[in-house]
Amino acid sequence: MLDKSNRQINYLRLSITDNCNLRCQYCLPESSNNFSKISNLLSTEDIEKIVKAFSLIGIKKIRITGGEPLIRKDFPEILKKINRIEGIEKIAITTNGFNLLENLEEFKQNGLDRINISLDSLNKEKYNEITRGGDFDKVFKTIEVAAQKNFDRVRLNVVIMKGINDDEILDFVNLTKNLNIGVRFIELMPIGEGKRFNSMKNSEILSFIKNHYDLEKAANKITDGPAAYYRVPGFLGKIGFISPLSNRFCDKCNRIRVTSNGFLKLCLHYNEGIDLKTYLKNNISIEELAQLIKEAIYNRKPEEHKMDSKDIIENIETKGMNEIGG
Ligand code: SAM
Repeated sequence: MLDKSNRQINYLRLSITDNCNLRCQYCLPESSNNFSKISNLLSTEDIEKIVKAFSLIGIKKIRITGGEPLIRKDFPEILKKINRIEGIEKIAITTNGFNLLENLEEFKQNGLDRINISLDSLNKEKYNEITRGGDFDKVFKTIEVAAQKNFDRVRLNVVIMKGINDDEILDFVNLTKNLNIGVRFIELMPIGEGKRFNSMKNSEILSFIKNHYDLEKAANKITDGPAAYYRVPGFLGKIGFISPLSNRFCDKCNRIRVTSNGFLKLCLHYNEGIDLKTYLKNNISIEELAQLIKEAIYNRKPEEHKMDSKDIIENIETKGMNEIGG
């Protein structure tokens, strides 16, 4: 569907939990344990109903995220249910990859098309430090195996922070030499714990890489969304840049979010949206839900998030990235 600014909305990011089995330093405080009660999360049935409603208004791609989506015991059931919904063409997941290796094949059989794994360091100790406990070897093995399994796409999400992992940029590029994956540099956003770190602009990362490698532009598919992709000639994989801060893509924004508590979020940076959970509790029909969502999306604003203005200070999102799902 189109919103009133003529933006085609076809992509839903659905957070199914705010809880996580890691505590990445820029995402969650070390001591966090104040997560939603199960009863406040969307149930398996709520999720099915929401996705059915979204499919009625033309959403074709669903990304399941969190928190860590794979800590939900009913994840396999959620996947199967979404896979059966007519109109949903692609199912993707964003995960830390911790509980994935043993389930890769099953998830593939049950409709998982695309996998994004977050990995901010290729150095075991540093990875363990950033994630406060992550097992690098296991996650890296998962990436290698997934890259050979003929998924539609396997990608790494990398957030570069100055003084933390900016010395690893070329190592990440080198990873694409023999692995058919997309390494995507995502600019750190000043949301929640992210405010404690110094982001690095993607334009800086790109010029640094260009000092060492010739890069060619890789074809962008429409479904690539806001990422700009490049390739080192001869390398199997690609590198991509998602630059929400230095190169806002609001005018092309094709996405909509539902948080783990069922809040329909119309823009990543603002609180604006509607609480779908209340309607679900009142047994709203799928058709009515679709109509409600359609109207909210049609009227969504703003057309641009102004990170440096008074506006952002007054209306900025206060939820953590773990609730929103990235
Ligand atoms: N647990 C999953 C994972 O690790 O990918 C999914 C949830 S996590 C919140 C989704 C993505 O958000 C991750 O790729 C993470 O790097 C990113 N993220 C978290 N906080 C961020 C921030 N402040 N700015 C940019 N990206 C952030």
